[in-house]
Amino acid sequence: MKTDTIKPILDKLIPHPKCPLNYEKDYELLLAVMLSAQTTDERVNQVTDVLFEYTLEDLATMDLEKIEDIIKPVGMGKRKAQYVKSIAISLLKDRDGHVPHDRAYVENLSGVGHKTCNVVFSELFKEPSLAVDTHVTRVSKRLGLVSETDNVEEIEKKLCAYFDKDDWREVHVQLVLFGRHLCKAIKPLCEDCPFKNSECKKSRI
Ligand code: SF4
Repeated sequence: MKTDTIKPILDKLIPHPKCPLNYEKDYELLLAVMLSAQTTDERVNQVTDVLFEYTLEDLATMDLEKIEDIIKPVGMGKRKAQYVKSIAISLLKDRDGHVPHDRAYVENLSGVGHKTCNVVFSELFKEPSLAVDTHVTRVSKRLGLVSETDNVEEIEKKLCAYFDKDDWREVHVQLVLFGRHLCKAIKPLCEDCPFKNSECKKSRI
């Protein structure tokens, strides 16, 4: 039987983690996760405060320039504005304005891929999944859970094998928050890290 030394430490550090993105409706979560690519959750929450004042019908018919203006702080505004509008149009046309529990459909929406779908399905449908983003990749490499050369698919596979299936949803959020706030890409806070003397081979102290 494997001995997982990482999860108990994550539980102590980040107990009962919650999705850091603000949303009320299913499509709002999908849009928020899509918008979160290459930016911070704080910025996403800042723009969705304004964006989600509009209905899905509003977004489907809104000028791209107006959407772009609202979401500018998250970066890649032109492309993400197109995704917002396209997702709104598709969900209204195909699924009555809701996010269906249909992986093939959701993964094929504009700007939504496997990772985004994993995050959304984990949160909305409580589906066991372990989405691998830039934080999960960096942290799992530093902790030696995967090798430096592993790609995203290999990392997901190895993490799913390492952690219990019941923990996948929670581990994803814990690794993201750990990467955002402690094991940062630049200047990780190794002095304060509980992994510094054991699991982590990349401690900067
Ligand atoms: S010791 Fe530093 S590099 Fe290693 S996991 Fe902790 S914060 Fe990250």
